Amino acid sequence: MAPAKRQIGLFGGSFDPPHLGHVALVHAALALGLDEVWVIPALPVHRHLSGCADGFTRLGWLQRIFAAEPRVKVVDWEVTRQQPTPAVETLHRFRAEYQGLTPWLLLGADAWAGLESWREYPAHRMLCNVAVFARQGLENVPTHEGWQRVERSDACVTPGHWCFVDVTLPQVSATLVREYAEQGRSLMDWVPAVVCSDIEKNYAVMQE
Ligand code: ATP
Repeated sequence: MAPAKRQIGLFGGSFDPPHLGHVALVHAALALGLDEVWVIPALPVHRHLSGCADGFTRLGWLQRIFAAEPRVKVVDWEVTRQQPTPAVETLHRFRAEYQGLTPWLLLGADAWAGLESWREYPAHRMLCNVAVFARQGLENVPTHEGWQRVERSDACVTPGHWCFVDVTLPQVSATLVREYAEQGRSLMDWVPAVVCSDIEKNYAVMQE
């Protein structure tokens, strides 16, 4: 029998800054049975960052956060390019370097809802499957034409499938963390302890 193909989850985001919602989503993805989760901090094409932490700083924080997790890899593909990288390019790179593997793109329900506005959509449907994680406060999870819904994340080797992961993740966003930091509040309940004081320091400045 041919060995089962590795199931790799790709978790991209601004991580501006990383918070406990991101960490919980990675753990929930591993609990689905993925072999690895790759965390990929971005210079996003569709939005502005706060300017409080550059790509390498966010990359470094994520490396510290996941240092003890052998199944989590923090990937510098997007920050080393030093220019905004559409997700579709990262998916093409993955497919070129790991031929035969179809990655699982890991998205919160809000990101999935906006998928059709992504650069070069619907090319993504030929490149990956998507695991959509429930996000508190966002109750309606849309379907997108052409994507086939499945129940289990390990059931597909060809692209174009999506599954909904009905977990309760912490109700936190990077926007909320930035607001609290600006107000001088402790971020202890919202970001991983290992990077908490660094994030408090970087984001305490007044933002635009
Ligand atoms: P911002 O508030 O700046 O928009 P964010 O908290 O949504 O940021 P991102 O780095 O933009 O964080 O998100 C990366 C990915 O993580 C996205 O797919 C997003 O949907 C998902 N995500 C972030 N926080 C949560 C959460 N609390 N629950 C579920 N998914 C989340």
